[in-house]
Amino acid sequence: MQVGKEKFIIAIDLGGTNLRVATVSFGGRIMQRVSIPTRAMDGVDAVIKRMTDKVIEMVGADKIRQAAALAVGAPGPTDPWAGVIISPPNLPQWVRVPLKQILEDRLQIKTFLGNDANVAALGEHRFGAGKGTKHMIYMTVSTGIGGGIIVDGKLLLGKNGGAGEIGHMTIDKDGPLCACGNIGCLEAIASGTAIATQTIRCLRSGERSSIRDEVGGDLSRVTAQVVVEEAMKGDQLAMEIMHDAATAIGIGVVNLVNLFDPEKVIIGGGVSNAGPLLFDPVRRIVKDRAMDIAWQGLEIVPTALGDDVGLVGAAALALAELRA
Ligand SMILES: [Zn+2]
Repeated sequence: MQVGKEKFIIAIDLGGTNLRVATVSFGGRIMQRVSIPTRAMDGVDAVIKRMTDKVIEMVGADKIRQAAALAVGAPGPTDPWAGVIISPPNLPQWVRVPLKQILEDRLQIKTFLGNDANVAALGEHRFGAGKGTKHMIYMTVSTGIGGGIIVDGKLLLGKNGGAGEIGHMTIDKDGPLCACGNIGCLEAIASGTAIATQTIRCLRSGERSSIRDEVGGDLSRVTAQVVVEEAMKGDQLAMEIMHDAATAIGIGVVNLVNLFDPEKVIIGGGVSNAGPLLFDPVRRIVKDRAMDIAWQGLEIVPTALGDDVGLVGAAALALAELRA
């Protein structure tokens, strides 16, 4: 596959587990791609070197300047204006890393940086399930819960770039402790991690479930994915846990739609693979609890971009910034 003459963006999706690099057309099509383990424990310099090596290998050192820009989606919190990664919990050594500046110096190309959930919101808005909307909210439910809020066609950043932290809305004032220090956050109740933790607690207390057989009795192997799969097969405990998570997510969505009155709420991330087990209760709760004005014409839909949302979203970030 050659980049050829078509205009393109170099997109990087820096995750705690995988580092993905791609070239993406102005139309949002992934032209070339590669995914390698991030291996964050190797240190910041090693990861950045692996990143630049992959870009050079994919595009060719002499052709990097043919790209319109480079854009990176990285775990938050980030400073989107300065292009600095501040201190993401799942990249422990990355404290105030000026990634935009480093990449611009090494690759000699205009670079943009955004937090991964915000970038995903831009991707869904420009190329995915949110295409054509002016007001939409993207929510990702995986290891954690993140999001991005588009108002009047623009990503809401807030004063410090911290807007859209949907996972840290308080849902239960007496709920479990969250990694952010608050209690009862949506993320602490309904993220993939929370689903697994809750399941393990129930299994330890002796509740019967096919999950126990599925992990061969080894409770350390319980993941949200296993819970989703067993819930789909009809396991009672798995269904109850998914229902509780979906209820919390539904209440979160009620709060969001009452505040922002969007046309669409798009839900992605691994837990959204639960399909109707997640979406049916969420839609029911939002219908019952949200204000009529927010419910009228609202659609709650799955991501259209799936796993590519980070890469396509990075391209969307670059396109939005270049136009600005
Ligand atoms: Zn929190």
